[in-house]
Amino acid sequence: MRIIYLDHNATTPPLPEVVEAVRQALEIDWANPSSIHRPGQAARARVELAREEVAALLGAQGRDVVFTSGGTEADGLAIAGTLAARPGRRVIATSRIEHAAVRERVEAIEAAGAAEIAWLPIDRAGRVDVAAAAALLEARGAEIALLSVMWANNETGVIQPVPELGAICRAAGVLLHVDAVQAAGKVRIDFGGLPIDLLSVSAHKLNGPKGVGALLVRAGLRLGKQSIGGAQERGRRGGTENVPGIVGFGVAARAAAERLADPGAAAALAERRDRFERAVRERVPDAIVIGAEAPRVPNTASLAFPRLEAEALLLLLSERGVCAAAGAACASGSLEPSPVLLAMGVPAEAAHGAVRFSLGPATTVEELDVAAGIVAESVAVLRRSTIPAPR
Ligand code: PLP
Repeated sequence: MRIIYLDHNATTPPLPEVVEAVRQALEIDWANPSSIHRPGQAARARVELAREEVAALLGAQGRDVVFTSGGTEADGLAIAGTLAARPGRRVIATSRIEHAAVRERVEAIEAAGAAEIAWLPIDRAGRVDVAAAAALLEARGAEIALLSVMWANNETGVIQPVPELGAICRAAGVLLHVDAVQAAGKVRIDFGGLPIDLLSVSAHKLNGPKGVGALLVRAGLRLGKQSIGGAQERGRRGGTENVPGIVGFGVAARAAAERLADPGAAAALAERRDRFERAVRERVPDAIVIGAEAPRVPNTASLAFPRLEAEALLLLLSERGVCAAAGAACASGSLEPSPVLLAMGVPAEAAHGAVRFSLGPATTVEELDVAAGIVAESVAVLRRSTIPAPR
């Protein structure tokens, strides 16, 4: 069966040059990069080259990069590390559209009594309300350790007002953490030029290996260490480095930077995404494009099909070779609508039927046209088989 992979926000295929670099790191540069001998120093050189490559993609300096086991650990280090370093401030400001790596982490911290969460309101376009954030910071700025917001949402692709939030955080003395896992490699990021203190990224979202990511930490910032052990990563994250993963991340970051240097590539990807959305809506006129009123990363389409269960649609799509995802988690047998969509005010009836299609740089118009046809047919099949609700 032909597979049309439209789930790049879940993970991306590693590039051939990434696979080759990982293989070489396992086969040749397998020594411990903390060792003083030659093989150790060769592995160290590979890690440091990768650090520069990751930094270059994000407009940062190599010394800003702390390698982690992925986006989840980077988010956790940013949040718990900041709280540990700022004992006088016991409030974390964040939003309900954050990835579970942030949302559940702050909820766990609050449940343990270690901090209080101030939830930032989300507007109907799916963006954090900057005026409300400014009012919160004015009222409680001295209590807030950190404001954590994502650059781009994983379900809708909506881009958050990061520069504006950065400006108000700076004015209030609040640190800003940005989860850029879904933005890195898709849009330009200038860590050095923006008022951001901490920024999380993950290699497997940009054609790198799984299980490796990074937290960028602004120079001079104090951060409580979470992975306690050796002095690796300038004392910020103990543990022998994942050399193959880090090397693969560096190669993927370099390739992503080259893609971003082509000014037409992102616009062309957005055009393919928009064409897919139009093609589906022509055949399923009541389908709703979520987040279309806000700026979005170019690869993400979130479509809600009212009166449909996303899970049923995903299974049918999968049988027909189309890989997509639902913005919902299966909890205790019932499919809960996504907290992201509910926070945006999407009615539960539509949120239940929300499916995310996420493209990659190599996704073709032809694949998208075929996928749009399969989506429309599958929706029709499910709607025919759905028993109408009793009146
Ligand atoms: N943050 C966002 C926005 C994500 O989309 C993801 C993964 O889906 C993560 C964090 C977690 O990253 P990782 O899978 O590298 O732990």
